[in-house]
Amino acid sequence: MPAAVRASLSAREVNRPSFRAPAARRDPERVTPALLADVRRHGRFDAHCLNCGSCAVACELSDESITLPRRPIRAVLLGLKRSTRESLEPWVCHDCGDCAIACPQKANPAESMRTLRRYLTGQYDITGLSRRILRSRAWHLGALGVVFAIVLALLVVYHLHWGELTMTDFVSTALPMEHMFPKIRYFTWIVYGIPLVFLTLHALRMQRMTMGRSGVPLRHYAMEAWTIFVQVVTQKRMRQCPAEQRKLRALELFREEGREAGVRLVPRRWLKHWLMAAGTMAMIVITGLFLSWFQTDAVHAWYHPQRALGYLASACILWATTDILVRRVRTPRAERRPNALAMPLLLWLTVVSGLAVHVVRMLGLELTTHYAYAVHLLITVPMLVVELPFGEWAHMIDRPLALYFHAVRLRAAAELPPEAGLAPAHVP
Ligand code: SF4
Ligand code: SF4
Repeated sequence: MPAAVRASLSAREVNRPSFRAPAARRDPERVTPALLADVRRHGRFDAHCLNCGSCAVACELSDESITLPRRPIRAVLLGLKRSTRESLEPWVCHDCGDCAIACPQKANPAESMRTLRRYLTGQYDITGLSRRILRSRAWHLGALGVVFAIVLALLVVYHLHWGELTMTDFVSTALPMEHMFPKIRYFTWIVYGIPLVFLTLHALRMQRMTMGRSGVPLRHYAMEAWTIFVQVVTQKRMRQCPAEQRKLRALELFREEGREAGVRLVPRRWLKHWLMAAGTMAMIVITGLFLSWFQTDAVHAWYHPQRALGYLASACILWATTDILVRRVRTPRAERRPNALAMPLLLWLTVVSGLAVHVVRMLGLELTTHYAYAVHLLITVPMLVVELPFGEWAHMIDRPLALYFHAVRLRAAAELPPEAGLAPAHVP
């Protein structure tokens, strides 16, 4: 860390209470010199921050209880591992890039927030797999490959054993689809059950890490439970990010002055994000709970709820993921974070392969349907088993949970005396 940066930072300031578990202030926190290097293994994290605070002023999501993105960046630069792990602030950030435009050092604090979220996702995971997958392309591809191989083996064994086919028949004979419907329902439950178990453990560890020692009474958790629902359904934090027109004007100004802003404008960000989340949740609910209704041999009219819902959810996901993919592919390779393409690409392929199964099935191409369905499973299952609990998709639960824990802490702070250490505080 540059000496000027080190001199301008004070551990006492970072240890102020907002968004922090109070026990952390009772024991002095040890410095972990390797923290910055560890965080950087998850992506880019610029250490040239001068602690000027321009980013926190520019961030629309900063308020009296949240200092974004300056405070979490300072905690990392100071090597305060416990403070970093206890912080919920990186999850409040919705990646709008305003702070990067405002930063006089061009330290791209928005990118640092992204990296920090990846680091925290790895810290919440109890198995340690997430840390490896988020840091290493080899681990990421290896994990996807192992699940791919298991699904392929299951498909072959299923057809040879239950379908009583020979190996030669297996590659050339199409069984009717109905024989597998009951079994595929149990298989789907297992596939959804695996991420559910790991994400539950992940959520419990996150609670322990960020709230565990704060002694907040249970009733505050119960009274704020609606926060999770509201955040998941509306994504309303993201809506608080500033208007695109304002950002567009700022970027034009940068261009006129010949300066590099370090961020790109994403038109209709909230709408795209909301549609992708809504479409994905709808697909998970339909296939997880109503598979026997959704996956039948009956071909309904296109406006039948069974088909219309599937088309609508697919269209939402395809629009949003195509947009993400195009933007990420256009980002210079050196600026791309590790594994940036994996999640949107797998989601896009899942929807396209699902639609392909639907089309060839309606055309009556039995053998093609069989292969298309196998390809669909070979893409979808690794995505659900690896990306959802151990990859970037874990933010689907990390973000609403963080906002929930923050609301719980604010509610408790209003009731408990200041000595309890929950009251929000300004950082000078
Ligand atoms: S604006 Fe840049 S230099 Fe200033 S505190 Fe934020 S990240 Fe650091
Ligand atoms: S990216 Fe946007 S929301 Fe996140 S810290 Fe920067 S200004 Fe705030």
